[in-house]
Amino acid sequence: MQFRDLKQQYQVLKKEIDEAMIKVATDCNFIIGEQVAQLEKELAEYVGVKHCVTCANGTDALSIAMMVWDIKEGDAVFVPDFTFFSSGEIVSHCGATPVFVDVDKDTFNIDCSSLEEAIKKVTAEGKLTPKAVVAVDLFGLPADFIKLRPIADKYGLLILEDGAQGFGGEINGKKACSFGDIATTSFFPAKPLGCYGDGGALFTDDDELAALMESIRVHGKGTMKYDNVRIGLNSRLDTIQAAILSVKLKAFKEYEVEAVNKAAEKYTAILQDVVKTPVVPEGFYSSWAQYTIQLSDMKTRERLQSALKEQGIPSMVYYPKPMHMQKAFGYGEDYKFECSNTVKLCNTVLSLPMHPYLTDEDIEKVAHSLKICL
Ligand SMILES: *Cc1c(COP(=O)(O)O)cnc(C)c1O
Repeated sequence: MQFRDLKQQYQVLKKEIDEAMIKVATDCNFIIGEQVAQLEKELAEYVGVKHCVTCANGTDALSIAMMVWDIKEGDAVFVPDFTFFSSGEIVSHCGATPVFVDVDKDTFNIDCSSLEEAIKKVTAEGKLTPKAVVAVDLFGLPADFIKLRPIADKYGLLILEDGAQGFGGEINGKKACSFGDIATTSFFPAKPLGCYGDGGALFTDDDELAALMESIRVHGKGTMKYDNVRIGLNSRLDTIQAAILSVKLKAFKEYEVEAVNKAAEKYTAILQDVVKTPVVPEGFYSSWAQYTIQLSDMKTRERLQSALKEQGIPSMVYYPKPMHMQKAFGYGEDYKFECSNTVKLCNTVLSLPMHPYLTDEDIEKVAHSLKICL
């Protein structure tokens, strides 16, 4: 059994993907071919925002957001303590200070009261200027933007929606990657919408920000390629990845998001009495980047993971270490903000195989094997 079955997906979409890849090779328009602009149009339309600007990967997308907002040394950016490293890395990378705040124990997403407490503390200390919050749509579930927006407004913070895992999710029918002042996603192969290498995108309704993003991704270009008006990056999405993504976006819209939701429902129906299954609040819709259960303790998790492995069932721990404990950030044990939910989650979460091509038999096998071993 595969944790995320990209081979099966390729077999289903093979004819169209092969044609798309061969067309790029035949035309040799490898960089900024017409497929890139076409994909950006399709993605913006799907998400329901005015602009989509693609780039080389999801981390660059976040970095470009930091650059267009001119976030720098002396600025504080609030980041959930339970997320992938990138969400905090990009803050340090531009010289600003990431302030890690705890997450909700049910949704895994940023906890708004912990956020507000941290904003107040940082403001009272007076050393850093609060500038933005990175709201991660973890495991496919959009962050609680309904609660988050008034807090951001109250303290004058920009919201950067890190939708690397959230693409395809919704709140009350509105799509993920439309909630932040800027939103980003990643097309890393294992993400909800993945390409065949690295890729990423930014989303915004703001014309000026979109123009800045387009400049930054090509060495800060001005009116033309050899007119450079600011320091930028080399961060374009390859034409071949755009061509593949257009094919995959069609399948994603037509049936893949629905299929992972059916799979999640089936897991939950079998497992909800024996473990803590993922919570999707009323009005929210997940794209199930991960299906993540919570166990009683680390020992139980280790025992279960090896029992599943013996039966050929892969499982993963996302994430084993809180951000504030990552050596790279230099905070360590005496970190000043309480992140007890994150610490507990790091010891107890376990993600099960999840993808649109998972069969009912696969789900039953995973869920029943888990039940027997508990
Ligand atoms: C994967 C991921 C990223 C980074 O995306 P890349 O394309 O790998 O650079 C950023 N944030 C989160 C939450 C992610 O899961």
